[in-house]
Amino acid sequence: MSAALLEARALRVSVEGQDILKGVDLRVERGETHAIMGPNGSGKSTLAYVLAGKEGYEVTGGEVLFEGRDLLGMEVEERARAGVFLGFQYPTAIDGVSVMAFLKAAVNAQREARGEGALDAVSFLREARAVAGELGVGEEMLRRYVNLGFSGGEKKRAEILQMRLLAPRLAVLDETDSGLDVDALKTVASGIEGLRSAERGLVLITHYQRLLSLVRPDRVHVMVSGVIRDSGGPELALQVEESGYASFL
Ligand code: ADP
Ligand code: MG
Repeated sequence: MSAALLEARALRVSVEGQDILKGVDLRVERGETHAIMGPNGSGKSTLAYVLAGKEGYEVTGGEVLFEGRDLLGMEVEERARAGVFLGFQYPTAIDGVSVMAFLKAAVNAQREARGEGALDAVSFLREARAVAGELGVGEEMLRRYVNLGFSGGEKKRAEILQMRLLAPRLAVLDETDSGLDVDALKTVASGIEGLRSAERGLVLITHYQRLLSLVRPDRVHVMVSGVIRDSGGPELALQVEESGYASFL
């Protein structure tokens, strides 16, 4: 049996000396979409930050393997190069760098790291414009500085655009649906759908069922107090929507 795309085993993480993740097991195969739901403060973002290699998150037990390799032992850039993409709830603004310039730098850095050489400007523009159009990101927005003064919906569109251009093997999206109106949610959902393939995996961290009715997960997990309390099919998300988390606590 080949290694899973992503496998967390008994992962324990503490932040500022406080235990947050208390033994998380998660196995994502290629081609699968997983959803992680759970009440506020249950550790969902902590899991995403640990996968991203953010400072201040101390792994105190367990392991995480990406295609069989020790993910937690890899440098942050190495993770991106290996094909891991993390999308965060609160993306940072970059003054003075346009969205287009940022995307080009990100894509070419990854290509060069893989020994593929930089894309020429014309090919890059063509591809970026095609995907941007699909996501309702206009020329004007591509010229603006990254996330500076962006609305919630614009930030999410820009993030999904970046994800699509990088075409990661594994994407973990933390609350990508938060603060989106119905139309923006549909656009973002179809942008996420566009990444799905038999080789890729997707982990959607979300409070709400509404994204999951548009990007249907294969597996749904409910995280409570730093552990995955329950796992099931899409029906588990409906159960959360109807009855809340009371029955999982
Ligand atoms: P969720 O994303 O499920 O809402 P988080 O992973 O953000 O949960 O938080 C889990 C717990 O970890 C919370 O109790 C939160 O207060 C705590 N926590 C998260 N980040 C930090 C931090 N940087 N410093 C101290 N405590 C933190
Ligand atoms: Mg969170």
